[in-house]
Amino acid sequence: MFLIDAHNDTAYRMYFEKQPLDTNNLQIDLQKQKSFRTLLLFAIFMDPEKLQEFSTPLDYFSAIYENFSKELRKNSQILQFTRSSKDFLLSNTNQAMLTLEGGSLIDSLELVDYLLEKQFKVITLTWNDSNRLATSAASGDSGGLSSFGCEVLRKMNDSKMVADLSHASDKTFWDVLQKTTRPVLVSHSNSRALCNHPRNITDDMFRALMENKGVLGINFYPPFLGEEASLETIFSHMEHFLMLGGENHVGFGSDFDGVDCLPYGITDFSSYEAILSEMKRRGYSQSLMEKIFYKNMMRVLE
Ligand SMILES: [Zn+2]
Repeated sequence: MFLIDAHNDTAYRMYFEKQPLDTNNLQIDLQKQKSFRTLLLFAIFMDPEKLQEFSTPLDYFSAIYENFSKELRKNSQILQFTRSSKDFLLSNTNQAMLTLEGGSLIDSLELVDYLLEKQFKVITLTWNDSNRLATSAASGDSGGLSSFGCEVLRKMNDSKMVADLSHASDKTFWDVLQKTTRPVLVSHSNSRALCNHPRNITDDMFRALMENKGVLGINFYPPFLGEEASLETIFSHMEHFLMLGGENHVGFGSDFDGVDCLPYGITDFSSYEAILSEMKRRGYSQSLMEKIFYKNMMRVLE
């Protein structure tokens, strides 16, 4: 089976914990992906705390980026870098795509050019902190997308970059959906109807996402799934979105290596085998499994 996972923080952990990509004790390495042909979105996560240890945000960014690039080169026979999902099905290696998690790096439009040069495909507009581009879900700030954020979004649209609205405040979400000319990504969030957390999205937001032809990746982090989170709860969120008509708009964004705990039944990336088995047990059609495992994400990441 092909598999696209829209969010992990493995590059960040690899750098700070000096772990390699091929085999490590994190939740994602190349060995743990063996059962699938994967396209993974590796985030360069702008962690406000760790940023303090560097003289500029760009120095911090470069350190993680360079370390990850080096690991990619080392493993190029198994994993190759890509900026589009277009050739995913034809590729004979796994693929890695780059995302910037947290627009706090972006202080000018030139910075977007810089990310384009480095072949970044996705920008998660905010992390938990609000920034120059937009307000975040965790901050409680009400401003939404700023006028600078609007310019950045226009530039991203023009250059086929994808805006990721996980971590965005509701106001930012609605502002972006109104302004974007391209489908958006909600890379690692769940349903607020099932788990009332500001990091999750409401049914109305999901309906708007469907209209936008966008896609949401189900997040495996227990606080966003609900009490006693398990494999079962992952399915509850997925099936809630399916019930809303989301067959073409749901995928996965595990958040592996960005979380300190996991649901019962999920241990690391190899647990996707259990998810696939459970889909089969529940009688999902082949076409629905393919949509959720990769086709829906492929469309938005083209
Ligand atoms: Zn995140």
